[in-house]
This record gives sequence, structure tokens and C-alpha cells, in this order.
Amino acid sequence: MTSANTMIDRALAEAHLPALLMALIHLTGDTELLSPEWRARYKPMADLSTAREGGYPPAMATELRARAKAAIEANMAGAETAPFIPSPDVIARMMNFVAGADIPARYIPFLMEQLGFAGHDTSLPLTPEKVRSLAQSRMRVIVVGAGMSGLLAAIRLKQAGVDVTVIEKNADVGGTWFENVYPGCRVDVPSHLYAYSFETRTDFTQFFSTQDVLLAYCREMAEKYDLRPHIAFNTTVEEAVFDERAAIWQVKLHDANGVRTLQAEAVITAVGQLNRPNIPEIKGKARFAGPSFHSAAWRRDIDLSGKRVAVIGTGASAYQFVPEIAKNIAHLSVFQRTAPWPLPKAHYHHEVPPEKIWLLNNVPFYDKWYRFYLFWTLTDGAIAALTADPGWEGPPQTIGAANAYFRRLLTEAIEAQVAGRPDLLAKLIPNYPAGGKRLLVDNGLWSQTMRRENVDLVTTPIEEIRAEGVVTNDGHLHAADVIIYGTGFQASKFIWPMRIVGRNGLEIQDAWQGDARAYLGITAPGFPNLFMIYGPNTNLVVNGSIVLFSECAVRYIMGCLALLAETGSPTLEVKQSVHDEFNIKVDEANAMMAWGAAGVSSWYKNATGRVSQNWPFPLVDYWNATLAPNPDDFLIQN
Ligand code: NAP
Repeated sequence: MTSANTMIDRALAEAHLPALLMALIHLTGDTELLSPEWRARYKPMADLSTAREGGYPPAMATELRARAKAAIEANMAGAETAPFIPSPDVIARMMNFVAGADIPARYIPFLMEQLGFAGHDTSLPLTPEKVRSLAQSRMRVIVVGAGMSGLLAAIRLKQAGVDVTVIEKNADVGGTWFENVYPGCRVDVPSHLYAYSFETRTDFTQFFSTQDVLLAYCREMAEKYDLRPHIAFNTTVEEAVFDERAAIWQVKLHDANGVRTLQAEAVITAVGQLNRPNIPEIKGKARFAGPSFHSAAWRRDIDLSGKRVAVIGTGASAYQFVPEIAKNIAHLSVFQRTAPWPLPKAHYHHEVPPEKIWLLNNVPFYDKWYRFYLFWTLTDGAIAALTADPGWEGPPQTIGAANAYFRRLLTEAIEAQVAGRPDLLAKLIPNYPAGGKRLLVDNGLWSQTMRRENVDLVTTPIEEIRAEGVVTNDGHLHAADVIIYGTGFQASKFIWPMRIVGRNGLEIQDAWQGDARAYLGITAPGFPNLFMIYGPNTNLVVNGSIVLFSECAVRYIMGCLALLAETGSPTLEVKQSVHDEFNIKVDEANAMMAWGAAGVSSWYKNATGRVSQNWPFPLVDYWNATLAPNPDDFLIQN
């Protein structure tokens, strides 16, 4: 047996069977594999955690592997026939198969693009004609932020021949992946989705990439697209003021040399929603005798070993760093105000086996279908579980039948983890609907950590902080040498603390009054030629990749800039009516989602109680809405 054969056998043992089945159709042209027999035995959510076998009984799995082996070997031996490219109808049936659902027709163009079957080159920003008119316009664009979305904007602008300057407050690219260096930091979206669609990787070595890998990816993008000469590092945007007479943004910057002003026809903010740490006003905070810091400003200079540590907060960041630090410290008090919902994922910390990487690299189309499966089951395929059934009268803390079922699955997973510890179980089961806050990817490490002898999960509310530690409202002092705030970010203060002044001297935070709104999260009336990426109501709760949304927003912004170039209009500004109608729909839809439910409080809601963070519709709707700007939505001077 050759080493390639051995690898095929090992790889097939590791294969994701639904993706393999689709690859087999491409290799053989045998659409009989879409028959009810194969479809009926497949259960997309058979194993919430790994979904490897797709629920197939062993005999079918063996048959599938054997047929795939023959087809792969023939392909590797240089089979004369090129892989079969199915018609759109067949591709739609294949999608339905892998999704285990009848995908509505409006998804097909979107998913065709995601799968790379759309027939156009997604690595280009716009059509060649639009690129030409943009390049000729000599437009200057300032991008604020060099994280994943700012880099993406810079790539597209540069490709389109636009004069782009990126302003970055940090010393390097990467944004959140540059700043968040706490132990255990990694993405909670599968690596194979968390990359630009035109820069995907088949050789990610972790199912969920760690911070260093993501930072390296950002750096690689900056090098590959030669972006560094366009980026001013260690530079902060203090304000951007729109000069109405000249139709120019005056952007005031601050760096080591002082203050200077740049001019640009358009400004794109790419500053994230989760950038400015939130440290709560807890009585006596300043009296604490030891060091204290926020998870996003991790103090690597402080050695925690042997110390007593208090962690406030049990959100996504704490969920990752608490298990890491608990191993080496004397004692850990974790202060939980609200329990998070864990989403079981046994392979969360696993390396991608070489056999899987081999499949992704060597079996035609396997990578695309694997990515499609991940995409569907984590995003729009899961949305029903977080949506309210109108008039629902089911158990409390559920909002519909699918949500109640989802709650049961998640609850069973927690119960299995803390069997024999009813005290812990009571603390770990959330008292709000599943999906009310971001689901935290979990491989059991959190509950294991809570079971450690040196760890206390404290659910009694905090009363105050004293020099010696944290006091709960039962009068108990939880002694600590260090306090770590895993208390999240000032998320609802969009693009703050930059001062953005639009028409008539209106400051954007005054316009919003603590309740940020925009059209498609991108543009706001009164602020011509200002575009936001990851702006109001574009956050994703179902674990979709925000990188996809950045790509959508950037495509739309490029379309807006092209519209300016083509029309010769100095400004483009969304109509108030368009903006308002859109926001009404957003609010109605958010009210039907788990995170919009009354009684759920999180960073998704602002001080007025409105959900200003989240996108409440299927992802496909954002993709469709941002394909190209509709000129009728804007005030344009022709
Ligand atoms: P977070 O999810 O907002 O969690 C903050 C935590 O602090 C919550 O448990 C909150 O309790 C608690 N808290 C806030 N103020 C408090 C107070 N005054 N007293 C006691 N507890 C208080 O923040 P985060 O963990 O930094 O995560 C923010 C977001 O960043 C996530 O939702 C996610 O989108 C993203 N993120 C992603 C990853 C990843 O991809 N792996 C990792 C980290 C962060 P309540 O729930 O009661 O408010």
C-alpha cells in the first residue's frame, strides 16, 4: 500500500461525511447520491458537538467511504474527466441535502457565491468599469482602524486605485486580535469561516484559531497587499468635521509629533463594536490595594502564580481566560451576575488533524462543502432556535418551540458536565432564553474549572470593593491580591470617543442621544460620505462570522464611492425616510429574537433598552441588501 493510499484511508476515517458525499458527486457526476435514501438517513444536527458522521449508520458510512476512496484514487491518478460542475438546480438540491432543510430560493445566489460557484471573481472589489471611474475620480479616503475590517477596506480601495490612508491607534495591525492577549484568547467561530472569502485557508491547524494565529493572518494580509505604507500607526483620530462648503472631511489626528489634519472626500470607520473597555462603577473600586486590570488590557507583567485572584464577569472573555489562570493560582473567586449559555463543541481546542487538512487540500470541492455545512448550521440554519413563536405560551424562559428544544439540549449538556454537583448546576443554568446573550463555545472546560478546589463561583451580588478584596452583599469578604475585570466593552457608544461632526455642526453622539442608528449599519442622515463598518445593528449573535458582514459592508461602501465617482456628486447622504423605515423594521425583528426578549439585559441593548447592536434578520438579507447601493436611497447632487 502506498503512503498516499494510507493517507486516503486515514483521511476518510476523519472525513465529514456530508461534505464527502458532495465531493463524490463532483468527482463522479452521480447525482443518485442525492436520493431520498441518502438524504433521509442524514441528520445534520445528529451530534451537536462534532457532527462528523452526519448520523449515518455504520454500513452506509462504510459504503460512502469506499466509493469516495475509489473516486479520489481515480482523480489522483489523473482521471480524464474534470470534476463535474452541477447545474444551479442540482447545486440547490445539494445545498438542501447538506443543510437538511429546504433552503429558500433567495439564498441560492448568496450561497453560490459563498461556495465559489457564482461565476464571478470575488477577489475583485467592483466591476472593471466602476473601478475605472473610481480611480479617475482621484478620491481620497481615510479608514479609521487597521483590524480585520479596516484592512479589508484598505485592500479594496487600493485594488480600485483609490488614495487610501488608514489611521491606527495601535503600533500594529490586527485590532481586537492585537489588543486582546489574555491567556486562552481565541476565536469562537470556526477558523474556516473566520477569514476573508478571497483569502480562505485550507491549512488552518486549529478548528478555532488562537489569537496569535489571527494576528499573524492580519499581518500576512497587510504584507501581501502592501498596506503598511498606507497606515499611520500609533495615531488617533480625535475628530472628523465635515466642511460643507468644500464637501471635504477634515480629520484631526494625534500622534507622537502632536496634532495634524488630513482631508478626505470620504471617511470609513472600522473601529469595531468591542473596543473601549467597560469597567463598572463598583463602590470602593479605587481603594483596592493590589493591581487590577481589564481583560482587553492584560497585564503580562503581573505574575498571577500563587496569588488570590478575583474575576468579575463571566462573558466570552472570562470564559476563555478563567480556565487558563485557574491552573496556577492560589485561589480564584469568579463573580457571576448572569450565567452564560454554553454551546457544546468538543473539538473547540483541538488541532485540525493532518488527515482533515489533506482532505481540504486534495479532494476537489470537499473544502467548499465543509465550509458550507459550517456556515449553514451555525448561522441561518440555527436562527429559528432563537426566534419567538408569536403567542408562545410554553415554559418560562423560552420564546418558542425551537427555542425550548434548544434550551433542553443545552441544559442536558450542562447537567452531564456537573453530575453530582446540584449546587453548581443551579448556578450554571441561565435564567433567560437560550440565545439571549452570545452563546459561548464550550468543551466542558468551564464547568471543570468551576469544580476545582481553588475556585469559587460566586453568585451573590457584589456590594463593594475594599483594599483586601471584593465584598458581596451577604457581608462576605472574598480576599484577593489581583482583580481582573472581564466586564466587556462600552459597545453601545458607537465610534466613540471620536468626535464626528456632520452637516450643520451636528455631532454624531448628540444625534444619537445614546441610541445609535444607521441605515444598514453603514450610513446616517446628516453625515455625508461617512461610512461605518460593523456599525449599529450589524452584530451577529448566532455564531456567524463578522468577517462576512465586513465584506458585505465594504462591497456596499465601494458601491457608494463608485456612485459618487459616476455621478460627479460631491456628496452622498442617506435619506432620513429610508433610514427611519429601515430602523423600524430592525426594531420589530429584534423584538422577536431571544436577545430582544423582555428581561434579558446584555451589551446588545443600549441604555434606552433598544437593541442597537444586533442584526435580527438572516445573514442572507444583509448580503442581498448590501450587494450595491440603490441610488434612490440617497440624496445625490447631480
Ligand atoms: P461581555 O460578554 O459583555 O461580558 C461581561 C461580563 O461582565 C458579563 O458576565 C456581565 O454580567 C459582567 N458584568 C458587567 N458589569 C458587571 C458588574 N457591574 N457587576 C458584575 N458583573 C458585571 O464581555 P466580554 O466577555 O468581553 O465579551 C464581549 C463580546 O466580545 C462577546 O459577546 C463577543 O461578541 C466578543 N468576544 C468574542 C470572543 C471570541 O470570539 N472568542 C472572546 C471574547 C469576546 P451580565 O451578563 O450580568 O451583564
